[in-house]
Amino acid sequence: MLTLIPAFTDNYIYLVDTQRGLWIVDPGDAAPVLSYLEDKQLQPSAILCTHHHGDHVGGVATLQARYGIPVYGHGTRIPCLTHALTEGSVAIDGIRLEVLEIPGHTLDHIAFYWEDLLFCGDTLFAAGCGRIFEGNPAMMFASLQKLASLPKETRVCCAHEYTQSNLRFAAAVEPHNPAVTERQQKVDGLRRAGQPSLPSHLGEELASNPFLRCQQESVIAAACEHGATDRSPTAVFAALRQWKDHFP
Ligand SMILES: [Zn+2]
Repeated sequence: MLTLIPAFTDNYIYLVDTQRGLWIVDPGDAAPVLSYLEDKQLQPSAILCTHHHGDHVGGVATLQARYGIPVYGHGTRIPCLTHALTEGSVAIDGIRLEVLEIPGHTLDHIAFYWEDLLFCGDTLFAAGCGRIFEGNPAMMFASLQKLASLPKETRVCCAHEYTQSNLRFAAAVEPHNPAVTERQQKVDGLRRAGQPSLPSHLGEELASNPFLRCQQESVIAAACEHGATDRSPTAVFAALRQWKDHFP
């Protein structure tokens, strides 16, 4: 079972009840997690971190001190890290999950993939992707392609509620893509009702997320009008990312 706990202005912290343990993914803030766990009288078993940014790890130390549970992540910048992970599979509470190294937003960024759930932090967003802070466009594009190759039914659990603004950009890139228009209506309805737009499905990302559509003619044409140096997927991706960085 999956629970989304809103934090700050637009973050989500995920709780994953695996039946064998309860995982907390990217606790940027301890307070809303503690209040949820105490209210439901739940005991978490592990903390999973996708990357070291404060809005993903700010609550780790408090939660780790309170519950004494292991902290999983990649690299050296995750606070209280107990289990340093690299690409491959890892067992948590006796459950195997896949760790995917997906650098670009940061160099220590990883994704966790278990059953049909993908926790991809700030790399793949619903209808968008994260900014490139530490990597380069080719690296980020390769990371997104790695995620895009997972099964279409995969549920994309990203860490921010950016979907509406991402879809405004998607509509600027592909004004004639019906999957974008339909998704805008669906997401607008969810947000009006106070519901999260997440998780999304990978299938709908492939149909409407321009950053996963760098080989589509419509996306290539739009990117070429916005500075793409050639029609290669990496050049198209780089131009889209730069365009989005300055998109209103
Ligand atoms: Zn981040």
